Amino acid sequence: MAEKRDYYEVLGVPKSADDAALKKAYRQLAKKYHPDTNPGDQEAEAKFKEASEAYAVLSDPQKRQQYDQFGHAAFDGAGGGAGGFDFNNMDMGDIFGDIFGDLFGGGSRTRRANNGPMKGANLRTSIRVTFEEAVFGVDKELELNLKDECTKCHGTGAKPGTSPQTCTKCNGKGQVVYTQQSLFGMVRNVQVCPDCNGTGKVVKEKCPDCYGTGYVTSRKKIAVSVPAGIDDGQSIRIRGKGEPGVNGGERGDLLVEVNVSRHPVFQRQDYNIFSTVPVSFATAALGGEIRVKTVDGEVAYDVKPGTQTDTKVRLKGKGVPSLRNKNIRGDHYITLVVQVPEHLNEEQKEALRRFDAAMKGNTSSAASKEEPKEGKKKKSFQDLKEDIKDMFGA
Ligand SMILES: [Zn+2]
Ligand SMILES: [Zn+2]
Repeated sequence: MAEKRDYYEVLGVPKSADDAALKKAYRQLAKKYHPDTNPGDQEAEAKFKEASEAYAVLSDPQKRQQYDQFGHAAFDGAGGGAGGFDFNNMDMGDIFGDIFGDLFGGGSRTRRANNGPMKGANLRTSIRVTFEEAVFGVDKELELNLKDECTKCHGTGAKPGTSPQTCTKCNGKGQVVYTQQSLFGMVRNVQVCPDCNGTGKVVKEKCPDCYGTGYVTSRKKIAVSVPAGIDDGQSIRIRGKGEPGVNGGERGDLLVEVNVSRHPVFQRQDYNIFSTVPVSFATAALGGEIRVKTVDGEVAYDVKPGTQTDTKVRLKGKGVPSLRNKNIRGDHYITLVVQVPEHLNEEQKEALRRFDAAMKGNTSSAASKEEPKEGKKKKSFQDLKEDIKDMFGA
C-alpha cells in the first residue's frame, strides 16, 4: 500500500484548523470528488475516500489528538493485530448525514438503511499496567458485562409464540422523513424512527427473559494481550467483543485503553527511558564502576574520572521496544548526579581540608597538566585521593 498522506495535507488545512475550517475544506473536496459527480472515475473515488478518512479522524477530537501525537501509527495495528483504525468500520453515516444533509438535500441516499444488518457498537474500557508490563507486554484478563442476543426470543424481544409487529410510524422503514422549509428551498431531514429505534418493528408482547430488549447481559472474562511498547493512553482493539450486531450484523469491538502506572525511578518519552543515577563524589572525581538500574535489570557503567554532575549518558538499546517491531528498542538516558557528602565526621572533614589545600596548590600551578614531578606536594595529593576513596566509597 502506498504511504498515506498527512491528513492535514489531504484537506489542505493548517494543523491549527478549527472544526469549521475542517468542515469547509472537506465539503469542497467531497463535492468535487463525490462518486455521484464523477461516475466511474477511480482517481476521484480514491481522492474522495482519502478526504473522507482524513475528515473522519480530524473531526473527532479524540482521534485528532491521537493522530497529532502519533501520526498514522496511532491507527495502525498495535502489535500482532491488536489495535487499529478501520476506515470501513467508521460510522460514515454520521459524517455524511452531517456534511451532506444540506449539501445534497437530505442524507437519505448515503445513510445506510437502518433495518439492514448493522455492526454492533464499540465498547470502551480501560486496564492498568505497570511500567515494566507496558515495556515488555503482558497478558491480562478483564471482566466485563457483555450483551448477547437473548436465546429465548432469538433477539426479537417478543414473547415466544408471538412476533414483533411492523412499526406503524415508519411502516417498517426504521426512519422518518421530515421536510423543512429553509433559505435554500425544501430540506429533507431523515431521522431514526423514535417508536422503533430504527428497527422497523415494535414488540407488543415482551419476552420474559430479556424484558423485550432482545438481549441478555452476562459477566464475561476477556483475555487482553497488551503488546510490548504500548504507552499510557493508547488503546487496544479486540475485535468482536463489543455490542452485538443488529439484524445479523457482526459484533462491535472492545477498545481497551491502557493506563500505565508511574515508575519510581524511570520516566518514559516515546520509546526512550530516562532516569537519574546518584554518583558518589569520589567516584565522579576518580572514575569507577557503578551499577545502573534499567528495565533489563542492573548493568555496570564505567564512570569516567572527572565526571561533572548532570552528565548525560546514553545506554543504547535499553529503552522501550517499538510497537511495530519489538527487536527495535529505544535508548535509556541516565543523568549522573554527583552527591555532595553531608554529615561529615571530623576525620572526613580534615581529609577534605587537606584535599582542598592540595587542590589549591594543584590548580594555581600553571604546570598542573604536566607530568607530575617527584615533588612532595604531588605525592601527598596521590595519597589524599586514596584517603578520600576509602572514606566516601568509590
Ligand atoms: Zn428475549
Ligand atoms: Zn418505526
